[in-house]
Amino acid sequence: MTFEKLGLSEELLRSVSEAAYTSPTPIQAQAIPAILQGKDVMAAAQTGTGKTAGFTLPLLQLLNEKPPVKNNRARALVLTPTRELAAQVQESVFTYGKYMNLRSTVVFGGVKINPQMMKLRRGVDILVATPGRLLDLFQQRAINFNDIEVLVLDEADRMLDMGFIHDIRKIMALLPKKRQTLMFSATFSQEIRQLAKGIISNPIEIDVAPRNSAVETISQIIYPVDKSRKADLLSHLIIKEKWYQVLVFSRTKHGADKLMKRLSRDNIHAAAIHGNKSQSQRTKALDNFKKNKIQILVATDIAARGIDIDHLSHVVNFDLPNVPEDYVHRIGRTGRAGESGQAISLVSADEAKQLHDIERLIKRKINRKEIETFEPQHNLPESLSSKYSRNKQVTKTTNNKTKRYKAKHNGSSEKKSYNRYSKPQNSVNSNNGNRQRRPASTATPAI
Ligand code: AMP
Repeated sequence: MTFEKLGLSEELLRSVSEAAYTSPTPIQAQAIPAILQGKDVMAAAQTGTGKTAGFTLPLLQLLNEKPPVKNNRARALVLTPTRELAAQVQESVFTYGKYMNLRSTVVFGGVKINPQMMKLRRGVDILVATPGRLLDLFQQRAINFNDIEVLVLDEADRMLDMGFIHDIRKIMALLPKKRQTLMFSATFSQEIRQLAKGIISNPIEIDVAPRNSAVETISQIIYPVDKSRKADLLSHLIIKEKWYQVLVFSRTKHGADKLMKRLSRDNIHAAAIHGNKSQSQRTKALDNFKKNKIQILVATDIAARGIDIDHLSHVVNFDLPNVPEDYVHRIGRTGRAGESGQAISLVSADEAKQLHDIERLIKRKINRKEIETFEPQHNLPESLSSKYSRNKQVTKTTNNKTKRYKAKHNGSSEKKSYNRYSKPQNSVNSNNGNRQRRPASTATPAI
């Protein structure tokens, strides 16, 4: 899929290409055409999915095709729960709309209201606002809603959580009935559906991570390992298991570079892609990876999102992501279209919380495996209640000597986890198909 195919104008394609986006994200691929057709949209998507461009790009295009705005009016209203998000949306409007002649501004509380009133005087095509300040401005007659053509509710679930429901209802009552409404929310909860009733009509529903049976073919495994030994373990696995074309996720740009260098020392041909790399560097790395000239591609979540690589046999989480939904996104790169795939996570004790969140999200425990000489000295605690069970018993290749060492160094808790989840020593690992349903998607920029 390309941005051209989505029907975006030349001006927008130019700014998208300057932003170095090579292909639309799933939410963009689905939302942009629907919004351009004037449909109401309800989308389950969180920050990091590219949702902002998903509504901003078509919004700019729709507004650009129509007559300009009048004084003290707005033609599109984007409501967000927080000022940070409002500022980010406004920045996206500015970035993507830089080759268009549209006016936009952002208003939120906690700062002086007068400058905001001044900005609204000549009217704005796109007004990004938090609900409370917007109502204040309305009461002071700084803004008139009669010409609103499009309403966007961004992070609607958070707005409800933060108690904005009354403000939102008040604002809805002031808007023209005939308008296009777009609602973005992390999930379609009961409350969200209730809110949607009456303010959105016949919406196209988009869930960027639909239940994907292909994910069921991915076998997931965790290697508990000390942080300081992760790179050694990865190198060991790559060499021993003869892995090729492996996508390795790193949480940080610096971590990605460091790992790439470390692997190169073991003559493993690796490249790193992240936000600090130029577009040409990224394209080159990706090309080489696809041509098998590079064995390992180390990427941050955001960098990986912009590139078209999947059907991989192995995806490695060198660090666990902070946002659990990112885990599902990452492992979705492997095992597509019915192929089998392996998602491997190297997890250190300090990542117990992230692991806990992931296992809670996917509603099961991920099988664990330890490699002799890489057993952690810092125990990775079991994270969940017995509510979630593993599909198969975990087995380890730990020998007696190692167990004695661990018992001495880690105390009894380590041994407990062995008893609960392990077969006796030296049994063969059996890590097959942790089946899971793919949850609603999200991701977090981690560049
Ligand atoms: P959002 O979900 O809107 O918060 O976007 C998260 C991040 O993804 C932002 O930093 C965007 O710049 C980036 N992004 C949006 N669309 C794309 C795309 N098609 N390819 C790569 N990155 C993108």
